[in-house]
Amino acid sequence: MYICIDLGGSNIRGTWMDRGGRCGEVLSMSRPRELAGTKQALAGLIQEIMHKAPGSVQNIGIASAGPLNLEQGIYFTPTNMPELKGFDLAGFVSGIFGIRPVLENDAQAAALGEIFKGCLAGERDALVFTLGTGLGSGVIMDRRVWRGRLDAGPELGHIYMGPNKGKRCGCGQTGCAETWLNAAALKELVMQNGLFLTGLKDLDTYLENKDEKALRAMQQYGRRLGLYLSQIVSIFGIKNIGLSGGLSRLGPYFSDTVPQTIRFRLKTRPWLIPQRIEFSTNPQMSALWGMGYLMQK
Ligand SMILES: [Zn+2]
Repeated sequence: MYICIDLGGSNIRGTWMDRGGRCGEVLSMSRPRELAGTKQALAGLIQEIMHKAPGSVQNIGIASAGPLNLEQGIYFTPTNMPELKGFDLAGFVSGIFGIRPVLENDAQAAALGEIFKGCLAGERDALVFTLGTGLGSGVIMDRRVWRGRLDAGPELGHIYMGPNKGKRCGCGQTGCAETWLNAAALKELVMQNGLFLTGLKDLDTYLENKDEKALRAMQQYGRRLGLYLSQIVSIFGIKNIGLSGGLSRLGPYFSDTVPQTIRFRLKTRPWLIPQRIEFSTNPQMSALWGMGYLMQK
C-alpha cells in the first residue's frame, strides 16, 4: 500500500493506492502560501490518508512542481511556490513518518500516470503535456521518465515559440511556449475574439452554447498547439501524445485542429506524424497514478 501525494502551487491532494492502481478517495486541500502552513497541511494529509488506507503503508510518493533536486529531496527555487525555496521535503517527511519519500516532478509523474492507468495505458513511449497554469512536459521511453543528461529532464514548456508581445513567462524569460499555450494564453485568445471572461470556467458555458467566437478561439488554440507539437515530435520521434492538465477537459473543441495542423506541418516528413493524440480522462489523477507506478518498481 502506498500514499500518493500531488503537492502543487494551489492545492495539495492525495490518496492511498495499491500495486494495481486501485485507490481510495482523493483528499484535497488548498495549500497555504507559506512554508510552515505547507508543512502542516502536508503532514496532516499524509496522516489522514495513512489512517484511511486499508493496509499498512510501505512507501510515500510525492509529485511536486519543481525545480526540485530529486536525489536530495530539496527544492531549488520553485517558479510558482517561491516560499518553498531550499525546503528539505524528503527530510521533513522522513523525519515525521520514518519513510524517505519517492519524489518526482509533477508533470513527469503525470506522464507516467497516463501510461499506467490513463489515456495512454499500456504504451511504452509517450510525450505528455500538462496544460494548465503552466505547460509541463514528460518524456516517457520504455516506460521510464527520460531526462537526457539533465537532472530534472527537458523542460519543453520553455522552448522558444515567438516573441508574444514580450509576455513574461514564469521562468523569467519571454517567448516561451508556455506563454502561448497556458490557461492565461487561452483566456486572452478568447477575449481577443470578443468575449469577456472573468475566469476560464465562463468559457465552458460559451462552448456548451456553441458560441461561434468561443469555438473559433478553440480552433486557433488547437492550431498553436499543433504547431508546437509538430516541433516536439520532430525531436523525439515518439508516436503517442497525451494531453493532461486542467485544459484537457476542453479537448473535444480542438481535437480536430491539433492533428490537422500537425499533418499539414509534417506533410513532407510523414514518418514523424504521431499515431495517437489522447486527452486525459481524469487529469486530477494523472500525477497520483504516476507516483503509484513509480513506487511499485
Ligand atoms: Zn519559460
